[in-house]
Amino acid sequence: MDYQQILEQIHAEIVPTLPQGRIADYIPQLAHVNQRSFGMAVCDTQGRFASVGDADERFSIQSISKVFTLTLAMQREGERLWQRVGREPSGTSFNSLVQLEFELGIPRNPFINAGALVVTDVVLSHLGDAKAALRDFARRLSGAADVDYDYSVAASEARLGYRNSALANFLKSFGNLENHPEAVLDAYFHHCALAMSCGELSRAFMYLARHGSNSDGAVITPGQTKYINSLMLTCGTYDAVGDFAYRVGLPGKSGVGGGIVAVMPGMFSVCVWAPGLNASGNSLAGTRALERFATLTGQSIF
Ligand code: GLU
Repeated sequence: MDYQQILEQIHAEIVPTLPQGRIADYIPQLAHVNQRSFGMAVCDTQGRFASVGDADERFSIQSISKVFTLTLAMQREGERLWQRVGREPSGTSFNSLVQLEFELGIPRNPFINAGALVVTDVVLSHLGDAKAALRDFARRLSGAADVDYDYSVAASEARLGYRNSALANFLKSFGNLENHPEAVLDAYFHHCALAMSCGELSRAFMYLARHGSNSDGAVITPGQTKYINSLMLTCGTYDAVGDFAYRVGLPGKSGVGGGIVAVMPGMFSVCVWAPGLNASGNSLAGTRALERFATLTGQSIF
């Protein structure tokens, strides 16, 4: 398979569509990005790597970080985690308060904000310094020792994070946070503010394409890998998860920074970044690019 040629073809097709979509600005610092940016990188289980466009430029990975946090929590809690968070698509917006009230403080899944706050709480309880833990984990997985937080993005979100604050306080009131909401929010905002490139993310996600292992050995078990990939397929791309599965046919996780990572178990991990979002909050050009990638490579899990 000539990944390089496929990525170049996709790049050429996608460039005219980049002005479409809308950059997230509810976190003001995220708006300082060039809407014409586009990067894509793929890594496969045979050690091949290809990239195109701005694949080396770091961007705010936002909710893609929820996959790393979930991995750290599953390593430590295993099945016990599911007593505190569900495994069903939410069908409501990723930061809904109503659903959390209605369901008595048990978030629908680990990828909506409420669920990610519970997962962050687990990591905080086990590891103490959850910020250092996640940054170091991302460095190890990507092989890039200088991966770090964009502190201006974390501060920008903290300044206006009233809704996440409400969710954290709600969770605490239901007894579903062990730590103080402020401590959980601080870790969560930083995790979302991790800055990584498409190349780094495609490498970092390879453990999910390799049944839980990377070149250093096992990160999680093959069973846990199946769980995380299943959750990405059913809950990883906001309320457009059905449309994403229909069009792309791969487990994927998106973030409001415009990044999406998708995995073909046993074969490859691919990351795309284009900051303009569609109405569901997924990268517009990124979703199209992944749809084309699945078509041109002839690969999907279905
Ligand atoms: N930090 C963002 C928030 O909590 C993450 C959003 C996302 O990428 O889904 O609103």
